[in-house]
Amino acid sequence: MELIDGNQIAAALIAELKAEVAALPGRKPCIALVRVGEDPASVSYVRKKEKTAAEIGLISRIILPPITITQAELFTLLDELNADPTVDGILVQSPLPKHIDEVAVFRRVAPEKDVDGFNTINLGKVAQEDETGFVACTPAGIMELLSRSGVDLKGKHVVVLGRSLIVGKPVALLALQKKAGANATVTICHSATANLSAITRQADVLIAAIGRPEFVTPDMVKAGAVVIDVGINRVADASKKTGYRLTGDVAFDRVAPLCSKITPVPGGVGPMTVAMLMKNTVKARRLSA
Ligand code: NDP
Repeated sequence: MELIDGNQIAAALIAELKAEVAALPGRKPCIALVRVGEDPASVSYVRKKEKTAAEIGLISRIILPPITITQAELFTLLDELNADPTVDGILVQSPLPKHIDEVAVFRRVAPEKDVDGFNTINLGKVAQEDETGFVACTPAGIMELLSRSGVDLKGKHVVVLGRSLIVGKPVALLALQKKAGANATVTICHSATANLSAITRQADVLIAAIGRPEFVTPDMVKAGAVVIDVGINRVADASKKTGYRLTGDVAFDRVAPLCSKITPVPGGVGPMTVAMLMKNTVKARRLSA
């Protein structure tokens, strides 16, 4: 079994981006990070994004509206950022409070600044295999992890557990693309899928993105499979100072011995998501220049 080290792969990518940004003429790329409210996971994600941006030499603008912001006010803020020529990328950290329609917010971000890749136009460009768009960061990070770990999906059966707009659907489309590294046969599973483990057991590459701690057990995995664990779940743990530990969607200790390669949680897909956000921001700057 080989561990796919997301921290190491993300660090390589970050070093490449740092060199690329240093060589860019003129204004440095700028990302606006919008975090509504004080959700603890969002606080830590935005802090990590800010830190990584600084490491690469990107400018970040942190905007922290209160949880009471209305959808109309958030739209006004986004319209201002869309119109600001010194802002290249905009990220609105999810989850948003219940009174705000998240998909409407994704649509409001100008497609050419949508470095999160959730705008209708950018999701459409993934389907059309149009490389001028922005691919959502977690799915793009998964593809990068696979290619940098020497996993070619061509002809492989990829099973994606989860059909969210953020992970499941776009990663399935990427694996399906008719291009080098992709070309997989893809099955997507969700909460209404019958005989789930009979399907996951067929996977050469299993991508778990359902948000259920340690859901994937050894009986669901074929020997020699590559397993990508996207899940980030907080599980109560009295032995930790924080009172919780992070765990993935895969029962790592029991599944890992079966796999040819597997990602850990933390330290697998998570760091790649942040690195791809930076990559998209540099791309946005290049395209706007
Ligand atoms: P969502 O809750 O939006 O989607 C979960 C998906 O899993 C849904 O399609 C749901 O099916 C499916 N599902 C839930 N329970 C089951 C079940 N028992 N059997 C089969 N399918 C099931 O989650 P996200 O895609 O946003 O996130 C998934 C996980 O990935 C979370 O733990 C999240 O924290 C993590 N994540 C990690 C990131 C990273 O950077 N590493 C980035 C983004 C997310 P249905 O559609 O039928 O409801």
